[in-house]
Amino acid sequence: MLLLRLRTDVGDGWGECSALAAPTYLADHLDGEERLLSTLLLPQLLAVDDVEVDSLDATLGLVGHPTARAAIVAALVDARLRSAGMSLADQLGVGGSAVPVGVVVGIDDVDAVVAQAVEAAEAGVGRIKLKIRPGHDLEPVQAVREAVGEDVELHADANASYTPDDLGLLQLLDEQGLGLIEQPYAPDRLLDSASLQRELVTPISLDESIDSPARAVDALELGACRSVSCKAPRLGGIDRAIAVHDVCVDRGAGAWAGGMFESGVGRHAVLALAALPGMTEIGDVGPTTAYLAADVVEQVEVDDGTVRVHDGPGIAPIPDPEVIDELGEAHTEFTR
Ligand code: MG
Repeated sequence: MLLLRLRTDVGDGWGECSALAAPTYLADHLDGEERLLSTLLLPQLLAVDDVEVDSLDATLGLVGHPTARAAIVAALVDARLRSAGMSLADQLGVGGSAVPVGVVVGIDDVDAVVAQAVEAAEAGVGRIKLKIRPGHDLEPVQAVREAVGEDVELHADANASYTPDDLGLLQLLDEQGLGLIEQPYAPDRLLDSASLQRELVTPISLDESIDSPARAVDALELGACRSVSCKAPRLGGIDRAIAVHDVCVDRGAGAWAGGMFESGVGRHAVLALAALPGMTEIGDVGPTTAYLAADVVEQVEVDDGTVRVHDGPGIAPIPDPEVIDELGEAHTEFTR
């Protein structure tokens, strides 16, 4: 995990680069983004006097690398919010909200998947997302549905693992009462996804395909999906996640707040985004304790299947310096 602490004229701001270790979800990967930030982006930022989110693209001239941009955007926004004594939720007009928890269950043997899903359902989780791929789809979906009953919304995330040759499999999944099927085809297959959506009753939601607000417009206009994952690290920042949310609201499409494998610094932004009024589906807003032994910020409390959105200054609580000292592997400082 890579945290960015930006010292600005108005105070410190924190952001997280949520790239994965390997380029398996996005082209971004953590070592590459760390190098890009250290050798190019942070020196460019330090060379200019007034950096704002609105002028960031003109300053950096950056193509791609959404997770690196998202870390900078978060740190800039966090610094501004802290100096104003405001939370991100306040700025978004959703202060004081609580959002329903959605958990993600990875690919595992079916008994293990069912056990995780039952545990989540017993904890009051309103949505369970099952990761699927060809050969691990119908069986776990049916087994989980049988185990948790009809009250829990089930989503299936294919992470681009199907092709149009798998239409028959996807039609079987279509009969399972899923709330949505996420990213069945490769990210660049918008027309194929539109053909598939015409065959399916279940809404398709796109995640990896949507790399910008303009792409969200294209995908919805083509009928390639009926809902979109508003995920700041994939899109390049909170600003763009909000823009995609607004695209979905304008077009009457579904939307939800997507999360990454991230610390609470990134996760709190997801929680605030998840409280936006146009988020029609429960997002990836489970506590980070589901996959982390320790976090740099206080854990969010799950209460009756919901989590309170951070209402103190900034996007998230300030990371604990002792935890960072204890768990941090490397620390680099750049000054102008
Ligand atoms: Mg996904």
